[in-house]
Amino acid sequence: MILLTDKSKIYLDYAATTPVDPRVLEAMLPYFSDSFGNSSSVHSYGQDAENALESARESVAALLNCHPNEVIFTSCGSESDNLAIRGAAFAARNTRQANKILISPVEHHAVTNTAQQLAKLHNFNIEFLPVDEYGLVDPADVKERLRQDTAIVSIIYANNEIGTINNISAIGALCQERNVPFHTDAVQAAAYLSADTKALNVDLLSIGAHKFYGPKGIGALYIKDGTPIYPMMTGGAQEFGLRPGTHNIPYIVGLAKALEYAVEEREHRVGHILPMRDHLIGMVLEYIQGSYLTGHPILRMPNHASFVFEGVDGNALLLMLDVEGFACSSGSACKTGDPEPSGVLLAAGMPKDLATGSLRVTLGTKTTAEQIERFLDILPKVTKRVRQYSS
Ligand SMILES: *Cc1c(COP(=O)(O)O)cnc(C)c1O
Repeated sequence: MILLTDKSKIYLDYAATTPVDPRVLEAMLPYFSDSFGNSSSVHSYGQDAENALESARESVAALLNCHPNEVIFTSCGSESDNLAIRGAAFAARNTRQANKILISPVEHHAVTNTAQQLAKLHNFNIEFLPVDEYGLVDPADVKERLRQDTAIVSIIYANNEIGTINNISAIGALCQERNVPFHTDAVQAAAYLSADTKALNVDLLSIGAHKFYGPKGIGALYIKDGTPIYPMMTGGAQEFGLRPGTHNIPYIVGLAKALEYAVEEREHRVGHILPMRDHLIGMVLEYIQGSYLTGHPILRMPNHASFVFEGVDGNALLLMLDVEGFACSSGSACKTGDPEPSGVLLAAGMPKDLATGSLRVTLGTKTTAEQIERFLDILPKVTKRVRQYSS
């Protein structure tokens, strides 16, 4: 087992997942054993669970600036994306014969593959928005494409691969004008950016706890009151009939606690991480020949650095970094052996050979300046070695 505290290992993949904050774990623990009731039960065990559930819901609602009955707990960020898009698409078709799904080409697979399946099996039409070289959506392009029969618009808030932050508030305002439901995948964004649903002008917003120091396997979906949506699973009446299944109270408590700390400590966390991230980007671009930043230089997640390197195989680079004790990512979820470059980079206009040489380095609350120095010491040597092998 590899520990985060292992001095020979340095974890720089916080966009993939984060460790559970010990304070979050502590808040969760009683609900596994002592207070184990089913929130649907009438007796005091059930009431206990119900109280924990509803106070978690109130806390999340306050942090998302919405009403508690607009918060639905799900099993993960992916499920939230699925419920938002499937649920709203089918409701839009049934209530107003809308058939079009408008998304960006740089969405997470939980959005893209959901839309693709709706197109393939249920005859929805997908329209992909253009993005610029940073993977940014221009709100004007959304405005131009909104139609009477647009069932739903979904645009990622902060990109997991390249860190670019979209102008969700402006896009949301345009969708509101046309009365088209607007979803944003805020799974990555929620760790560091405001998820104020009113300010963002969203109807649907997805989050997942494990991206902000909560447990894996728990997410939430904000659904603005009055948004037409169908459940995608059927069963009990939990979560206002939109998501059946006995509540996972410890994880729900964990999500609420983790989000609370993320918001409360945001400024402190950003203040710790951002200077190291900026230093890292500056040094890489200066000292590694043929290196380029991917994603937006300014409108990007504060913990996120991502690059492409000329003449480098991204997978080989990751493996060599791992041997040196550094855990990074290529940015996409592709496992080694898949030579296909990231669709996100290609959509942003990156040439294919350059896109295969991608590297994502994401920092977290436990990252230290010393770790970054060690990384900066190793990276030029490793890229050089990978280039020698592949030439
Ligand atoms: C991680 C992630 C997801 C999926 O969330 P899970 O909780 O892992 O299912 C969806 N969208 C984005 C942008 C992500 O970063």
